[in-house]
Amino acid sequence: MHWLQIDVSDLAGRYDATREIESSGPVEGFRSGLGWIEDGDSVHVKLRLRNVNDGIEAAGEVWGRLHLSCSRCLVEYEQDFRLDVDEKFYFEPTIADLKEGYEVRDQVVDLEPMLRDVIVLSIPMRPVHAEDCKGLCPVCGADLNVSDCKHAEQQIDARWAPLQGLMASQSGGDDEEVEK
Ligand SMILES: [Zn+2]
Ligand SMILES: [Zn+2]
Repeated sequence: MHWLQIDVSDLAGRYDATREIESSGPVEGFRSGLGWIEDGDSVHVKLRLRNVNDGIEAAGEVWGRLHLSCSRCLVEYEQDFRLDVDEKFYFEPTIADLKEGYEVRDQVVDLEPMLRDVIVLSIPMRPVHAEDCKGLCPVCGADLNVSDCKHAEQQIDARWAPLQGLMASQSGGDDEEVEK
């Protein structure tokens, strides 16, 4: 079985029975937005599984290393993560149960979908490699953290150009109005 598939037959039918698990391994092909886990990197899980009658509760921590692309300058950087987990796997889930939890299938708890969900939620929508990242120049694409291409100053002047054009066309329109 995959390292994230845990046989819980020893807990089935035993209310409040618990088992601690600690394990690590890869989460292949994980990518979401601007974040991913390298295929060679291990993710660690430390969880307490508990029989709560209608299911198995899984509570504890997962940790590992995320790779991210800066949303401003596109540079790749790494960030360690450590996340709290408190999820439930139902023996006979209803549709509503599955919206907030998972399913025990054939006495097996598959932690992989849960792990993916937990990690996805921790990835920022717009990761930045440093709070003061200056990003890329919109004109030439230069990394403004590394060099100043001076386009930023010209950009401010260029911002007025459409407004000047608009004013010119409006005054032109007024003239036509008068001629009619
Ligand atoms: Zn950046
Ligand atoms: Zn530039």
